[in-house]
Amino acid sequence: METIRENLAAVHAVMEEACKKVGRDPKEVTLLAVSKTKPMELLKEAYEAGERSFGENYVQELTEKIKETEEDPPYTALSGISWHMIGHLQRNKVKYIVDKVDMIHSVDSLRLAEQIEHDAEKKGVIANILLEVNIAGEESKWGFTAAEGKEAALSVAKDLPHVRVRGFMTSAPYTEDPESNRVHFRNLKALFDETAKLLAAEGAPDAAAFDTLSMGMTGDYRVAIEEGATIVRVGTGIFGARDYSH
Ligand SMILES: *Cc1c(COP(=O)(O)O)cnc(C)c1O
Repeated sequence: METIRENLAAVHAVMEEACKKVGRDPKEVTLLAVSKTKPMELLKEAYEAGERSFGENYVQELTEKIKETEEDPPYTALSGISWHMIGHLQRNKVKYIVDKVDMIHSVDSLRLAEQIEHDAEKKGVIANILLEVNIAGEESKWGFTAAEGKEAALSVAKDLPHVRVRGFMTSAPYTEDPESNRVHFRNLKALFDETAKLLAAEGAPDAAAFDTLSMGMTGDYRVAIEEGATIVRVGTGIFGARDYSH
């Protein structure tokens, strides 16, 4: 079996190649190591190999892992982790994470954004968020339509002072052929550019901070980077397949 260190080196090599191919600076793209369902020993291995950004999907698992890094040796050695919430988030759970994560990628409704505003204000923080866009229009997926996403970004930027809208996130359709998702990544990048312009034109306070495009997973991150991703979310490609049987 490949070690996590080897997997990470391979992922970083692909990321650099993808950047090179399209003339992007590799520093523009951050790898988010998606550690959901994986034990702390494996996070520690990734940390020791140099990773500092971790993505989690479930509030309880996320808060437990953060607590371990705060209280439980040897995991207290894992200082300076940037935690990202990437899974579907219920409004009544926002309070548990709003001041603990650096970014919430999965904001899929204005009601959720308003809840984040409420809880962020209460805790005295500014919450960085991405709006989740269902760019392929899949029946089964959470998220704004493209048109709604643009409007939602403007209204969050204008109306919610404790929420900083940083960009968009999408989960493209599951596919064996990453090329088939290229069009979706390209469409989200186009929407991102249009929205950035709109925010600037409207003089929205968050306009200058609208700089993040979270797209691409193990199967398609190379294509996502070629199309403009600034964060790729890779789980299986680093930690191996997930086991949901227990
Ligand atoms: C699980 C998950 C990932 C990582 O998926 P892999 O295919 O294992 O790389 C990325 N983004 C989201 C939103 C996820 O839920």
